[in-house]
Amino acid sequence: MLTKTFFKTSFMSMHAPMAIGGKEISSTTTTNLPYRHKPEDCSVENTPTSKLSQKTVLHLLNTKCGNSLQYLKQVHGVVLRRGHFQDHYVAGTLVKCYANPQICSLDFALKVFGHVYRPNIFVWNTVLKACLEHDEACAVEGAAKEGVQVHGHVVKHGLSRDGHIRSAGIQMYASYGYVEEARRLLEEDGDCDTICWNAMIDGYLKCGDVEAAKELFEKMSSKNVGSWNAMVSGFGRCGMVENARKMFDEMIEKDEISWSAMVDGYIKTGCYKEVLETFNEMQRKKVRPKKFILSSVLAACANLGALDQGRWIHAYARKNSIKLDAVLGTALVDMYAKCGHIDLAWDVFENMKEKEVFSWNAMMGGLAMHGRAEDAIELFFKMLRERVLGPNGITLVCVLNACAHAGWVDKGLNILNSMQKIYGVEPEMEHYGCVVDLLGRAGLLREAEELIASMPMKPNAAVWGALLGACRIHKNVELGERIGKILLEMDPLNSGRYALLSNIYAKAGRWEDVGRLRKLMKGRGIRTTPGISMIDLDGIIHEFKMGDGSHPQVEEIHMMLEKIIEKLQREGYSPNTSQVLFDISEEEKETALKYHSEKLAIAFGLLNTKPGTPIRIIKNLRVCEDCHSATKIISRVYRREIIVRDRVRYHYFKNGVCSCKDFW
Ligand code: ZN
Ligand code: ZN
Repeated sequence: MLTKTFFKTSFMSMHAPMAIGGKEISSTTTTNLPYRHKPEDCSVENTPTSKLSQKTVLHLLNTKCGNSLQYLKQVHGVVLRRGHFQDHYVAGTLVKCYANPQICSLDFALKVFGHVYRPNIFVWNTVLKACLEHDEACAVEGAAKEGVQVHGHVVKHGLSRDGHIRSAGIQMYASYGYVEEARRLLEEDGDCDTICWNAMIDGYLKCGDVEAAKELFEKMSSKNVGSWNAMVSGFGRCGMVENARKMFDEMIEKDEISWSAMVDGYIKTGCYKEVLETFNEMQRKKVRPKKFILSSVLAACANLGALDQGRWIHAYARKNSIKLDAVLGTALVDMYAKCGHIDLAWDVFENMKEKEVFSWNAMMGGLAMHGRAEDAIELFFKMLRERVLGPNGITLVCVLNACAHAGWVDKGLNILNSMQKIYGVEPEMEHYGCVVDLLGRAGLLREAEELIASMPMKPNAAVWGALLGACRIHKNVELGERIGKILLEMDPLNSGRYALLSNIYAKAGRWEDVGRLRKLMKGRGIRTTPGISMIDLDGIIHEFKMGDGSHPQVEEIHMMLEKIIEKLQREGYSPNTSQVLFDISEEEKETALKYHSEKLAIAFGLLNTKPGTPIRIIKNLRVCEDCHSATKIISRVYRREIIVRDRVRYHYFKNGVCSCKDFW
């Protein structure tokens, strides 16, 4: 099974769009209500239905504005101009749309709410839910306070007995960790339906109180599918995915929510293979997947490099006329980019009718990761030219990353120094991290260190880690040692930090220090993360791990590998043995270098695919130097394109050279 942190460093995980969408509006919108739009923005206005009735507006809000901020703004403009804001249902729905996880601007939702005259139960309920959902999606600290205040008003207005308001109140208190308050609401007299009970169960599980949740679940006289679903999704959220599965299997009746709760649980715990299995099971049971499940499954495909399955979902969406909205489209872009097909990602991106900032970010991130920095930057300028909702923090991370991959020091520094002024985005830790990486890669270690010292916030382990990586590349032992020590203190459980420092020592021939570090690691009980490489063959993901003899073709693969190494040696390759002895790589030292997981995967690929077919591999760790040089020669000798996505970037091996120019 894969670890949670697998590909954590990638530019866009599937759940990123929500957060990105949120950041975007809250960082750039300073307008106060009433919201005014420039006429050219209003394509809704220009449609034949320009005399939109209240009913049509509601319909538009409910169907079209779920994940397009641009569209929502247009409809909002219409609402204000046509006087529909007086209508509580329209106003409440507007609040709901702004707070929608895809758009995610609680600030703005609350501003809209502030303009509602004498809100009715529907509006109150919506705003309570908004606070609640926003807290879930973005973990904004202020949301709890807002929510409690809103609820205070609700009580004052004597509306607290309403069933909907009550369940929203229970959910809200429970999700902020005020389970006692939530329980008190539940036990109060009055109308209390299963929704309230489910909310309470959910609340206990959110706080990790599994026992209380179970007890309540047992106590329920009538359990509906919703109660089971609450348990499944709650367990998933606590990372107790096995309990979730047990519950899921015990369910006599399952609905779409049950399936998506299960899939979500797997995604959250990084069990991507299980996501695909569950999805296949769903297919066999003929349950029609909803759009959001498709996005989750695509995220799993992206992580596993499961191109065939990802393609299948693309075809499925097409066949069933499922609209490619910004979220689903972006999930496809991300999947294709991460499965090594940047061209297909581009096709989808170009044909997307609705693009949000996170869509541009995903495309830019994909390009940068594929080493196509120029294209990424060009896309960024196109985004500015087309005046898509301004770039957000993530956009600038993508841009700075592209600069780092291309080695554009001046450009990167310029962007960092002017991003606040030009794009209105305050530089955050990630932006500094990118530039530290950029300077470090370019060998400007002193400048990188100075930049860290000048940061307005305390640098985190990732920023120091970027500099440590640069010390390894440029063999600066003195600085590497100093930073390594800082990192081991900050991040004592991360095996990668030890590996990197030991790597620096080994390159300097300081074997005693290497040994000392190993001992320290052992003493602290830290195990290195095993290297895992995956390859997708006809829709089946084959996983390779050093020392794991479970693959049915294991003997054949080993024999093939012997042959490959012999051939390589005739071409002048000699294994970098220091890596075997001293754990330079992030892989375990015990097993010989030649059995590193990516070599096994390559041998498997050569054995099982026709000559000339590209071999695509996904690895959870950084590629080690020995595997890198071996793969270069294999690509020439066997005339194969080999594409390896490691923890950080893509390597395209072709004709004996790699796209990273040996710099990674
Ligand atoms: Zn290796
Ligand atoms: Zn490379």
